[in-house]
Amino acid sequence: MPTPPIQSETTATQARYAAVAVPVPLRQVFDFIIPAHVALDDEALVGRRVLVPFGPRKLVGIITQCNDSTNVSAGRLKPIIELLDDEAIFDATLWQTLAWVSRYYIAPIGEVFEMALPTLLRKANGPAPSTTKHWILTEEGRVKPIEELDRAPVQLAIIKKLIRSLALSADDFAEMNSGWRSAIKALTEKGWVQEENVEPRLTTNDQAQLVKQSGFELNQQQQAAATHLVSRVQAKTFSVSLLLGVTGSGKTEVYFAAIQASLEANTQALVLVPEIGLTPQLLERFQARFSVPIAVMHSNLSDKERHLAWWHTKTGEARIIIGTRSAVLSSIPELGLIVVDEEHDTSFKQQDGVRYHARDTAIYRAKLAQVPIVLGSATPALESYYNALHGRYTLLELPNRASAALLPNVQLVDLEQQAAAEGLSPALSAQLREALESSEQSMLFINRRGFAPAMYCTDCKSTLRCHRCDAHLTVHRSHNRLRCHHCGYDTRIPQACPGCQSKELKDLGEGTQRVETTVQALLPSATILRIDRDSTRNKGQLEAHLDEVKSGHADVVVGTQLLTKGHDFDHLSLVGVLDADQGLYSSDFRSTENLFQQLVQVAGRAGRRDKQGRVLVQTRFTDHPLFEFVVTQDYQGFANAELEMRQQLGLPPFGYLAMFRAESTHDARAMQFLRALKTQLPVFDGVRVMDAVAAPMAKRAGRYRAQLLIQAQSRGALHTCLMSFIERLERHEGMRKLAGSVRWSLDVDPQDLY
Ligand code: ADP
Ligand code: ZN
Ligand code: ZN
Repeated sequence: MPTPPIQSETTATQARYAAVAVPVPLRQVFDFIIPAHVALDDEALVGRRVLVPFGPRKLVGIITQCNDSTNVSAGRLKPIIELLDDEAIFDATLWQTLAWVSRYYIAPIGEVFEMALPTLLRKANGPAPSTTKHWILTEEGRVKPIEELDRAPVQLAIIKKLIRSLALSADDFAEMNSGWRSAIKALTEKGWVQEENVEPRLTTNDQAQLVKQSGFELNQQQQAAATHLVSRVQAKTFSVSLLLGVTGSGKTEVYFAAIQASLEANTQALVLVPEIGLTPQLLERFQARFSVPIAVMHSNLSDKERHLAWWHTKTGEARIIIGTRSAVLSSIPELGLIVVDEEHDTSFKQQDGVRYHARDTAIYRAKLAQVPIVLGSATPALESYYNALHGRYTLLELPNRASAALLPNVQLVDLEQQAAAEGLSPALSAQLREALESSEQSMLFINRRGFAPAMYCTDCKSTLRCHRCDAHLTVHRSHNRLRCHHCGYDTRIPQACPGCQSKELKDLGEGTQRVETTVQALLPSATILRIDRDSTRNKGQLEAHLDEVKSGHADVVVGTQLLTKGHDFDHLSLVGVLDADQGLYSSDFRSTENLFQQLVQVAGRAGRRDKQGRVLVQTRFTDHPLFEFVVTQDYQGFANAELEMRQQLGLPPFGYLAMFRAESTHDARAMQFLRALKTQLPVFDGVRVMDAVAAPMAKRAGRYRAQLLIQAQSRGALHTCLMSFIERLERHEGMRKLAGSVRWSLDVDPQDLY
């Protein structure tokens, strides 16, 4: 591309400059010369991706503005290398949503834009996916009598397949006889078939109707909720509804009614689900119900698959988009409805880079797009419930299970009264045996993978710790290794204590592997299945395991929180929670809420069919008020009590938080940086800046960590304070230097205080 002269008289009067957001951690945009031959007006340019020179590199950025003047000296100005798009890459409401994400979470706009682009579009590729080779029938192929192919069965099969479809690619023939390639060649030579390059399309089961029949009628409460949501979709205005439905109450059917209304209104529906909630079973449920093209977005897609899903969404071909967190950042030009399922799930908050919350971002986007949004959960986040109590959200309730099934019967097992051997109390062991005898499925839930969470020396009374982290090493007996679950450090189980050389080393506590071993010894004839991160590392393993649970083949399932999310297991009647006490007395204010949510969700897996399920929760603290609400599965009771406590402490939703985190390989630097940051600050009304403290895990992967919490009475005050922090950081020479010597981040609305 020719570079226009910069300083000649004529171009100086006509020169135009584009402000470009590039993916660098700086809170600013950069000016570039718009080449003179680009005849488009300013408005048409804003929002397009461009390739620009940036130091020695070339970066893909996005034009945020066009101007006739610039403050950059002529010698330093460079022209845009290439215009990559024919139109803005983000739709209008997404554009504004991303600007909000950048403002609200105080993240550089260039990084926010980058995050919203599929990986392939962060490079200088055109927006459309590359075309792939397909075969189609020629005019001749369409009219020739197929009997002519009676003696060429593969050719015949290919023609029959092509008659049913418009175009087929190599993937579509993959399951056929391996001779398909030579058969295609023969057909091409005969002139029946021809090759063509087309864009890949979403596959659908080609049906005249958008929606297929469901197997049952909605019950009265489902109907009421559905009617409300349908009216919201039809009204095409912004509203937030909170669907508070107990586990198994049939929330999905209510979403389906709203999605159907969205399809009938000719709009696209976005469905956000938690990180591990997007299983093939969920997708099958959608496909069984809707015959429209569905795009799926999750973190296990290849770059190419993700680009395709994004493209189908942007072109409007996909009418339903189901995705995890980042799906809320895709271009959805005809958006008509947003559903956030399991809205309390912590995976909706991004924990690194741009720390946005997908649910909150979705609400903002719905407001801009003037469409309804529904948040669903059996255990909503207290923030959402509070908004519903105060009329900002419409509360829709499903207090009963959808089918005849009753909520499970929950009982506590007091570990002070009956000791657990290898994790199992006598009461739970007896119930497990009984369940096996009556061919019922059981599930044991423990939030620790590995064999034992620690190794203990009985002589010097110390545990074996990771030298890079402030943490115990986990025992993995099956591989004879000790592993750190925080930094990945991995070593052989030693013969003797590294401290005192004693051989008296013992496994302390239970992890999933140990429980698996214990149960196998207790019930030798049972088929046991373990589901945790170690047993589901490979692609497809989690799905295969879940299928095994669903089929009823496994008698006892031992697993971590991977099992809690929205799964519907037909055969499961007994659930045991081995150790509910973790997190009960944690320093994090959200830990009680998270524990309650987890216990209710796990319990909710039990007895979702005709027989009432049983849940045993083992604890040392039966008197803790939390358990009263768990036993009665009383979300609202729990929420009201917890809200009262939060109010007294000025914690969310009554106050607003932000957390600065810093880490460094040098043991004092992170703390120094945060202390200096605090002293730099003027005092703000309604804002409390706490002291810099060591993080609860003070060292991780060889880095020392510190944090600084800011608590404010209003969002506005918090924001003003944070902006002034950031300005100090960027302006003040000394601060800039300190900041440069650590890794630091800012987390607005942190989910946990670690
Ligand atoms: P939730 O997401 O609220 O936990 P689901 O949507 O998974 O619940 O529904 C639980 C079960 O109840 C599913 O198997 C579903 O097919 C069934 N179900 C939903 N609505 C009805 C209904 N109206 N009548 C009978 N069964 C229903
Ligand atoms: Zn020792
Ligand atoms: Zn470690």
